[in-house]
Amino acid sequence: MTAIELVRGDITRESVDAIVNAANSSLLGGGGVDGAIHRRGGPAILEDCRRLRGAHLGKGLPTGRAVATTAGDLDARWVVHTVGPVYSATEDRSGLLASCYRESLRVAGELGARTVAFPAISTGVYGWPMDDGARIAVETVRAADTTVEEVRFVLFDERAYEAFAAQLR
Ligand code: ADP
Repeated sequence: MTAIELVRGDITRESVDAIVNAANSSLLGGGGVDGAIHRRGGPAILEDCRRLRGAHLGKGLPTGRAVATTAGDLDARWVVHTVGPVYSATEDRSGLLASCYRESLRVAGELGARTVAFPAISTGVYGWPMDDGARIAVETVRAADTTVEEVRFVLFDERAYEAFAAQLR
């Protein structure tokens, strides 16, 4: 069974095998956690992203999928980039959000990662309500069939931390 840990803080400061990035489909960087990962991880991550774009991904990574790159200067072996869905009040996209967690664990597990840090995917600019985002994250990781031994949710603020803590209670 995969152990779940909660940390309050900045995911770019974590020491784990794989750090998950809430990327956008271009893989060319953005704001929020994506910007922070590229800033602290340095240019090697973007170089790898460009290579992946050229080699495999054509116009971009589809929502709900995940790919791995180097972690550059971060204290990790890989960054796993996944594209969360933009929240919609009229369309149920929760399957896509669950897919981000599942696919990221699959990609990380296949690389041999045993510890993986996740941010609260889609809960920033993409507008997903934090409580629901936390529920989907925790349920999906709990149900995942994975070789990853520890998942660390790294929550940027107290509200996010509390939302995840409530799901674990
Ligand atoms: P998305 O576009 O998927 O919504 P964001 O980066 O805008 O992605 O936000 C996702 C979550 O990550 C938000 O809850 C935001 O507060 C959080 N976040 C932003 N920066 C960091 C960071 N350095 N470490 C961990 N979480 C972060």
